[in-house]
Amino acid sequence: MAARPKLRRRRRTKIVATLGPSCTAPEIMNRLFHAGADVFRLNFSHGTHEDHAASIATIRELEERSGRPIGILADVQGPKLRVGRFGGGRVHLQTGQEFRLDLNPTPGSARRVNLPHPEIISAAGIGCTLLLDDGKLRLRVTHKRDDALETEIVVGGALSDRKGVNVPDVVLPIPALTQKDRADLAFALDRGVNYIGLSFVQRPEDVAEAKALVAGRAWIMTKMEKPQALENLDAILALSDAVMVARGDLGVELPPEEVPLAQKRIVRAARQLGKPVVVATQMLESMITAPAPTRAEASDVATAVFDGADAVMLSAETAAGQFPYEAVNMMDRIVARVELDPGWRALTDASRPEAEHSTAGAIAAAARQIGHTMGAEAIVAFTASGGTALRVARERPEGPVLGLTPNEETARRLAVVWGVHAVVVPEVHTMSEAVNRATRVALSEGFAAHGQEIVVAAGVPFGHSGTTNALRVSTVR
Ligand code: PGA
Ligand code: MN
Repeated sequence: MAARPKLRRRRRTKIVATLGPSCTAPEIMNRLFHAGADVFRLNFSHGTHEDHAASIATIRELEERSGRPIGILADVQGPKLRVGRFGGGRVHLQTGQEFRLDLNPTPGSARRVNLPHPEIISAAGIGCTLLLDDGKLRLRVTHKRDDALETEIVVGGALSDRKGVNVPDVVLPIPALTQKDRADLAFALDRGVNYIGLSFVQRPEDVAEAKALVAGRAWIMTKMEKPQALENLDAILALSDAVMVARGDLGVELPPEEVPLAQKRIVRAARQLGKPVVVATQMLESMITAPAPTRAEASDVATAVFDGADAVMLSAETAAGQFPYEAVNMMDRIVARVELDPGWRALTDASRPEAEHSTAGAIAAAARQIGHTMGAEAIVAFTASGGTALRVARERPEGPVLGLTPNEETARRLAVVWGVHAVVVPEVHTMSEAVNRATRVALSEGFAAHGQEIVVAAGVPFGHSGTTNALRVSTVR
């Protein structure tokens, strides 16, 4: 039987593609995967459990057929705040006029509307800003009552039913997981997703709470989309397994000029800790309706790659756009082109964080150094929990990183990690078994030929996570 041709990406930075009505057909998902989608994102703000279950089944079939692990990100909606409905569905708010947000569920008008969130009414103080419809409209609180906020319309405009409300000035006394989120979380974990995207996190406690519920069944990817979360960045990152620069909502609550700096700060902090970081939203926005991006968008994707993000993400471009395949293909082209540039390599080397002061950190740094000096074909990381592969990826080595794991779940999680090509292998028990296995896999996956050299990093004894302590150079025979 002829061996199946091995699928190997030509880039280090990974691609996350959001699923939606434009790509529910298995054939389209297959094309997106082959075009470059390493991770699929299920957006639980939309779709039914049935829809998501069908997507998950299709992804796992794709995985089976391609022989490559694929990551699935279940992005739960979080406490997205919304106004109620209007008589007639739509009103126009006049700048300078007064407008009331109250607990009265009857249809609203140009003078008032229902805000079915008593916690916000009590938390918002006088002078506090409320943003409506992704920040298009702006209100300022002038008076407070127990059951209502009186506001002045600072920037008016059209407002329709159920539009979103953002409150950038205050930490809201609401949990990061709603009842719906808890049900979605249970469903997603039951179906074996690999990461949980946590929306509108404000405090480290929000992550801790989710972490307790998830109980190690998936990596927690915290979405940075609130200014309050940025103030707690270090503490939030410490509790998270991964992080997303969620520029959509972040850009509603922060002025536009702050967003690029926030992106750089979050990416730098995550890289320092060796935790995967995804840059998301509006990357190729115009491709929702056009087969080619603007040159500014191409440049935005390139910037995220230069920043050293683990992955870049497509949202509406693949979920609801007219050109989902073209969007993934274009992202793949832009990323691959940047990574050929000597300037990108120089910048990647210059921005490498100092080695972690631990045995594991020293081994990962040495693996990169040895690989560089020898011109090794690959660094092979044996990894049970993913830790060793993450540490090696943190060093952003020049050669490819093979993440070998007996754990299918770990292989899927590593799909989002910079530069890691994960392969599920049988358990090994000794370093010589590991080296043997590493050379065979490097050969069979097309990373090294006979006579070429690889670097092998592992934790001995095998099967205990967090013990990266061994390094070996081996020739492929
Ligand atoms: P969303 O999150 O697409 O779920 O809103 C991403 C963002 O806000 O950028
Ligand atoms: Mn968001």
